[in-house]
Amino acid sequence: MGEELETDYLVVGAGAAGMAFTDALLEHCDATITIVDRRHAPGGHWIDAYPYVRLHQPSAFYGVSSVPLGQDALDVVGTNAGYYETASADEIRAYYANVMLRRFLPSGRVRYFPSSDYLGDGRVGSRLGGQVWKARVRRKVVDTTYLEGAVPATSAPPFQVADGVRCVPAGQIARISEHPEGFVIIGAGKTALDACVWVLEQGVPASAIRWIKPREAWWMNRRFQQPHSLLPQAYNGLAIQLEVMALATSIGDLFTQLENQGLFLRVDPAVPATMFRGAVISQAELRLLRQIEDVVRLGHVRRIERDEIVLDEGTVPTSEGTVHVHCAARGLARRPIRPIYEPERVTVQPFQWGFACYQFATLGVLEATVESDEEKNRLCPPIAYWDANTDYLSAFLAAFTNQPARLGPPALASWAMATRLNPLGALALHRDDPLVIDARGRIKRCAPAATNNLAKLLGTSAA
Ligand SMILES: Cc1cc2nc3c(=O)[nH]c(=O)nc-3n(C[C@H](O)[C@H](O)[C@H](O)COP(=O)(O)OP(=O)(O)OC[C@H]3O[C@@H](n4cnc5c(N)ncnc54)[C@H](O)[C@@H]3O)c2cc1C
Repeated sequence: MGEELETDYLVVGAGAAGMAFTDALLEHCDATITIVDRRHAPGGHWIDAYPYVRLHQPSAFYGVSSVPLGQDALDVVGTNAGYYETASADEIRAYYANVMLRRFLPSGRVRYFPSSDYLGDGRVGSRLGGQVWKARVRRKVVDTTYLEGAVPATSAPPFQVADGVRCVPAGQIARISEHPEGFVIIGAGKTALDACVWVLEQGVPASAIRWIKPREAWWMNRRFQQPHSLLPQAYNGLAIQLEVMALATSIGDLFTQLENQGLFLRVDPAVPATMFRGAVISQAELRLLRQIEDVVRLGHVRRIERDEIVLDEGTVPTSEGTVHVHCAARGLARRPIRPIYEPERVTVQPFQWGFACYQFATLGVLEATVESDEEKNRLCPPIAYWDANTDYLSAFLAAFTNQPARLGPPALASWAMATRLNPLGALALHRDDPLVIDARGRIKRCAPAATNNLAKLLGTSAA
């Protein structure tokens, strides 16, 4: 056993959650913090992300609260043209390395153990050196790994692959040096979508791409997820949603109306969409994706043979010259929810609809500024990560129901108004914009009916 560590908090995971939580503790209390991650650098899954991935939300409200990400530039080229920049994986990795090196470690209050496993019971094991440290944790272990996601780079495909079949994780297609006969993209989520868009952008004809989609997904229109000069439009999107939610007659009707209003998008409007992971895309991406006509909807892939792909509900031919792209990792975990705050532990989980980092940081601010675990749990009752249509509505409802209570603790309320991570935090700067004035009135009028109707639809209807 190596030296004994003493720390107020032991944060397990240096991903977006561990970094945002730590940053909040640094800003709002004088605790010492030890961060452990089995990866060699801070950033979590971004360390292993496919090279062409970008944030699907603007950089403006991603990362830790105290350090901006990006230059808040409006993109003028590519599928994000007209919208605020979305960081690439390289930028995100550099960002988190910088946060660790220039903010956390110089504070003198943070110790960081990369390439180290948390072994439970306060023990930290170095992967390479073999040392094991025992931490005496004075306050809490902060577990950011409870709902850890799986990404294709680090998880095997959930189907069998026969010898001689070319099947690669999403990131590997960027390293192909010869011209394959065709591509089979396997998966219905954001990774598959990114792989399709990237391959098309490289000049591969749509006719050379087959897309295997077990489900059709809803996507959110990036137009309504914007900061700065485009924030009034985003706020107007919220008003539109509440108007629809107030009057929808069923969950199906609600999603169709949101699609008609341009808030939600699906690649194939003829196919019912049952998946909702909350990812954001642009209409330029949508136009590219709609070029792919060879879409296979025969359930999940079970195995790939040299000459055919076997799915739940049938087979399709393939060939040895075809590259099969694994984009079928399960994504974020859906485990039983448990209290976020306990006497010796914080278990990071979502508590409302919205982008991740604002929620992670909110949990840190609450931990630092509110004493009672009971009160913190009252303000942030956890919910599951979203996967199906109804999950979005429950998460949206959770945001509306619990947000007023979170305006109670003064430290949290003033931080929430000021932090760049809050997508609506800067609304006050646009208070005289006619679109904001109009949207505010509509939100006020519709919010009670919308929340009542959502609760009713969720209690009585299926998607
Ligand atoms: C491709 C992709 C794009 C995304 N884009 C966005 C986006 O634009 N906006 C958004 O809000 N969300 C996005 N997400 C969602 C994503 O979940 C969050 O952004 C965020 O990065 C998740 O951070 P995390 O810290 O919860 O998890 P992770 O990044 O998975 O970090 C958890 C860390 O814990 C470590 N760990 C686990 N167990 C142990 C152990 N026993 N000992 C030591 N270390 C351990 C792991 O090594 C890992 O580094 C995206 C997700 C993916 C996969």
